[in-house]
Amino acid sequence: MGGSVVPAVVRAIRILRYLERQGTRGATLAQIYRALALNKSTCHSILKTLERFGFLESAPQSRRYGLGRAVFELGRAADRARPHLAFGVRVAPRRLRHRGWGGMIPDRFEYFAPRTVDEAVSLLQRYGAEAKPLAGGHSLVPLMKLRLAAPRYLIDLNRISGLAYIQEADGFLRIGALTRHADLEASDLIRAHYPLLADTARVIADPLVRNMGTIGGSLAHADPAGDWGAAMLASQASVVTTSPRGARTVSIDDFMVDTFTTVLEPDELLTEIRVPRPPARSGGAYLKLERKVGDFAIAAVGASLVLDSRGTCDQAGIGLCNVGATSLRAQRAEQILRGQKPDEATIARAAQAAADESDPASDLRGPAEYKRDVVRVLTARALRRALQRARGGE
Ligand SMILES: Cc1cc2nc3c(=O)[nH]c(=O)nc-3n(C[C@H](O)[C@H](O)[C@H](O)COP(=O)(O)OP(=O)(O)OC[C@H]3O[C@@H](n4cnc5c(N)ncnc54)[C@H](O)[C@@H]3O)c2cc1C
Repeated sequence: MGGSVVPAVVRAIRILRYLERQGTRGATLAQIYRALALNKSTCHSILKTLERFGFLESAPQSRRYGLGRAVFELGRAADRARPHLAFGVRVAPRRLRHRGWGGMIPDRFEYFAPRTVDEAVSLLQRYGAEAKPLAGGHSLVPLMKLRLAAPRYLIDLNRISGLAYIQEADGFLRIGALTRHADLEASDLIRAHYPLLADTARVIADPLVRNMGTIGGSLAHADPAGDWGAAMLASQASVVTTSPRGARTVSIDDFMVDTFTTVLEPDELLTEIRVPRPPARSGGAYLKLERKVGDFAIAAVGASLVLDSRGTCDQAGIGLCNVGATSLRAQRAEQILRGQKPDEATIARAAQAAADESDPASDLRGPAEYKRDVVRVLTARALRRALQRARGGE
């Protein structure tokens, strides 16, 4: 691959991630180097190296590249080594050779529809990392169709009653894991007291996805492009999980470990999300820039502020979406705000800090520099809107 090894490895990983997103379509050399803003000959030499080691396969007729069997074998090994990965990667190499880069029909699986959380947890305990819970299916099923996930046992949570609710108790908003995005969007309680969450629910995908997708599935999937992760960071939320060892409460900061990776054990279900009830003089907002309606974010920002009686910022929460390996908390930006009057100069400094803390990749949604600036602009706007709401305006 020539030159310094570390940048070449980073570029190779970006290429693999890009091709993973392209799925069965794959991509041509020109598409890859343009999307990732790479030099053409550097890109070509990395592609050839990856192909030599089996990480890529190329189709000579269409001149397209797709992920090769070594990636899937690596995925299998990672799955064995890290059973808490949000999804396992098991593609039959034979299928890769004969049908291109995966088919559209999931691998065989056994289906269970438990009626209680206890039943679901004991099934997960019995089948371990070979089992996957199914919620809305809007992330898991596409992965299964592409054979990027091939659970042998599918534990459908949809027949469990009492796992979908939105209620307040003991100073917290409690959201059942199986609550659909659409129910959050339609909730009067959320609209009245949790504007940041109301903003978030209405910008997730399109009505079809919102009708099926669940907040628990979204957080458990831990896609850095998922909107709930950033919204929950800004809201200082925690999640409740249930396993054969009982229930535990984990702060959202500790819950999301890496891309598609959480602290959930294979026999552990996410059962509830808890958001502290915002005190008086507080406000929040979530703003997202997308290429077209219904798309994942180019970047999105959630911001929450609590003011004291003199209008000074007492608490601040800022979560960033799709500009890092996970949803990110903009810690320095939060520190800049705390103890200060949130005037334009302070907001501008916090927004710049959030941009500096973001770590976006260049891809089809734009170059990294552009996305960093989007974070700066959205953070300033979200803070202004949060402030306006904290002062009693809309
Ligand atoms: C076209 C399209 C556009 C989209 N756009 C957006 C968008 O703009 N913003 C956004 O945030 N999302 C978007 N999504 C994702 C969507 O929000 C998904 O619904 C969500 O990410 C996953 O939720 P789910 O209920 O469908 O989970 P599933 O697909 O059923 O599961 C996802 C993963 O979580 C695990 N899981 C599910 N529930 C639990 C649980 N309770 N405990 C433990 N593990 C669990 C599953 O085993 C699986 O690994 C989009 C999806 C599609 C198809």
